[in-house]
Amino acid sequence: MSRYFTKTLEQLEPYTPGEQLKRADLVKLNANENPYPPAPGVAAAVAETIPGLRLYSDLTEAKLTEAIARREGVPASCVLCGNGSDENLLLAIRAFCDEQTPLAFADITYSFYPVLCQLLHVPARILPLRQDFTIDLEAYHGLGCTIVIANPNAPTGLLAPVAAIEQVVRANPDHVVIVDEAYVDFAGEGASCLPLTQRYDNLLVVRTFSKSRNLAGARLGYCVGHPDLIADMNRVKFSYSPYNINSMSEAAGAAAMADEAYFQKTLAAICAARADTTRGLRQRGFRVLDSATNFLFATTDRMPCAAIFAALREKGVLIRRFDAPRIDNWLRITIGTPQQMERFFAALDEVLAGTGAE
Ligand code: PMP
Repeated sequence: MSRYFTKTLEQLEPYTPGEQLKRADLVKLNANENPYPPAPGVAAAVAETIPGLRLYSDLTEAKLTEAIARREGVPASCVLCGNGSDENLLLAIRAFCDEQTPLAFADITYSFYPVLCQLLHVPARILPLRQDFTIDLEAYHGLGCTIVIANPNAPTGLLAPVAAIEQVVRANPDHVVIVDEAYVDFAGEGASCLPLTQRYDNLLVVRTFSKSRNLAGARLGYCVGHPDLIADMNRVKFSYSPYNINSMSEAAGAAAMADEAYFQKTLAAICAARADTTRGLRQRGFRVLDSATNFLFATTDRMPCAAIFAALREKGVLIRRFDAPRIDNWLRITIGTPQQMERFFAALDEVLAGTGAE
């Protein structure tokens, strides 16, 4: 830290992203990325933008916004795109929280929320998950502050029912409830709160292209909510990064949104591999939570999870472990292709055998 760094951020602890190891034979299962390439139409759509790159990108991202609105069945005025859903979360917290209006969220959830609170000087109100990592949504009734709920949650992968979240929205009519649905496409039909945005003016649903749309590197997210919420967030956006979406990413996102068949095909492949991987881990004595996402959260008493994580890393299989209370003996494993999962299990078996545990 230089002596010039602002004292107001001295305590800031930045988010720790999944490691980006450079190794040719790496099996990268640590950042919940999609193992399949972007939809086939994406490359040509991006290439078409090149001549126009001398111009600034479209301030309103009209093409992408319309593609999203069409796919989700909502008016374009209800949609705002972001440079990753991380940016949408920042815009929302800046718009709907302040020193007097804290942000409430679970103790075990996406660890970017507390970082944004620190950065933006927003008090965090932390509500513990139950012992079994399910969320007690009744505890969120009448909280009197802004709320963010990741659903399905990360890193647990557990899904809460839409009806219970709707009750939270109804029970906090004077505050915004943000539902972070980064993984909802992996949760099956009827898992999303997005249709409720057309009935409640205090609900904001945040989505990403990074997981189910195979575009983590394009940095694209979107949120859906009442046009007044979107206008509020636009006020913040235009005060900080008006051209937040570059033209190439906008085109990539629109092409990805338009290819429903590819989306369904890759989703199905990941969900099938998720079922196989869950079974494989349970056969090996792991406790695995029922995942509604593209990752699994698992633990075992066969060997400390920190040791499993480190030994797999040595073998070029990268998964994720969190040095955080209650979950430090758990592992988060992104679902890859069947071939990647085979390599994962081969390495895991070697690691488990190495201890004499088998
Ligand atoms: N929300 C949750 C719950 C996540 O796990 C992630 C990915 N780490 C994000 C949001 C952010 O995704 P992105 O910025 O890539 O859209």
